[in-house]
Amino acid sequence: MALTNLQVRDLETVLHPYTNQATIRDTGTLVLERAKGIYVYDVDGKPYIEGMAGLWCTALGYGNEELAETAYEQMKKLSFTHLFGGKSHDPAIELAEKLKEKAPVPISKVFFVCSGSEANDSQIKMVWYMNNALGRPQKKKIISRLRAYHGVTIASASLTGLPANHTDFDLPISGILHTSCPHYYRFGLEGETEEEFASRCAQDLEDMILREGPDTVAAFIAEPVMGAGGVIVPPKGYFEKIMAVCRRYDVYMIADEVICGFGRLGEWFGSSVLGYKPDAISVAKALTSAYMPVGAVMIPEEMYQATIIESKKTGTFGHGFTYSGHPVGAAVALKTLEIYERDRIIEKAAAKAPQFQAHLQALADHPLVGEARGVGLVGALEMVAHKPTKKAFEAKAGLGAYATAIAQEEGLIIRNLGDSLAICPPLIITPEEIDDLFDRVARTLDRTLDKAKAEGLL
Ligand code: PMP
Repeated sequence: MALTNLQVRDLETVLHPYTNQATIRDTGTLVLERAKGIYVYDVDGKPYIEGMAGLWCTALGYGNEELAETAYEQMKKLSFTHLFGGKSHDPAIELAEKLKEKAPVPISKVFFVCSGSEANDSQIKMVWYMNNALGRPQKKKIISRLRAYHGVTIASASLTGLPANHTDFDLPISGILHTSCPHYYRFGLEGETEEEFASRCAQDLEDMILREGPDTVAAFIAEPVMGAGGVIVPPKGYFEKIMAVCRRYDVYMIADEVICGFGRLGEWFGSSVLGYKPDAISVAKALTSAYMPVGAVMIPEEMYQATIIESKKTGTFGHGFTYSGHPVGAAVALKTLEIYERDRIIEKAAAKAPQFQAHLQALADHPLVGEARGVGLVGALEMVAHKPTKKAFEAKAGLGAYATAIAQEEGLIIRNLGDSLAICPPLIITPEEIDDLFDRVARTLDRTLDKAKAEGLL
């Protein structure tokens, strides 16, 4: 199909993030114009169910007047001031208070950022800073996991455990290591129970810590449910075993709640759902339902005390962004949290989860689907070439990307993570809309199956 004028101008000017720069020249981009509720509309007025909540973030959907008005009012009142060197403002103070109140573990202070990457980058710097302050400068290595996604800045991309974020970027940087991915369907051994698999993952972590030397390992970071790595739900008991290892070797634990935070898994924080009790937490995305780019690093008292110790020695704590705690972002975040509480958004999302997960599990019977997995209002369908052996399609067949394009024709935006189709709608989706969404997913799978058969891929 010929590209429209807007698509041509787009390709001539915009370098698209996280995009196959070669294929996009043929397919062009989907140019969106407006949105309301769970629907986004392209420039021709065609509606799509936003089945990915943008990038796992638009929890309250689109066109929320209250959030728009909050931003407008704050821009008029105090459009900007910063938090550097002794300045502050009411929205940041109130937001920090609210986050502390909601946190699933004791939190002492909140450091504001503008994205998930900045949050995780800051986590690394905070850990290094703390261990310098505490007089153990050799304890600096950070352990992440294969298939994790923690962002794309140099340090957070190093935490990420996906080849696309490392290859050609000369990453990961030294001192960042990746332990095993807790995906039982893919990495569980023949005859191994989920529990045994969880124990093996914990053993892998312990072996890595011992190999590196516990005195050199500072922290472990994990998403409660891995998002961009394929919506990977860890086996039962996984975090309990992992936490025991971390505690044994005095390894600080960080939860990356950038996707799971604020109701995605059915509770305020995904860690609570998975039984993970971290020391520090990163949040972003649904913190503002993506109405403003805001993230936060939530730290415990011990780490805060370290900043005081170190400041006494060296002066200024030399970390902070111009827009750390931007007043408009903070006001919008605060209003978002108020709406979650007032409208019981998270309880209602939890109540819709059984319907969502039942739809997902029903599709496990589809001839293309090897595994259907999820928690709360997030899930994925992993397409395989041969169900009994779990044989994957060759990457060059591009079946995941094909399915995403078909979904788009069906008026549904989903995202393929390899051949896993991720589904993560706004939390405000209604039960009727959930049925509609999954009808479109089913039609997408049927049409993708037709293609796989026609091309002899099965
Ligand atoms: N952590 C997780 C778990 C994420 O899913 C993401 C983004 N998808 C990030 C960190 C990075 O966030 P950002 O893109 O806002 O930098």
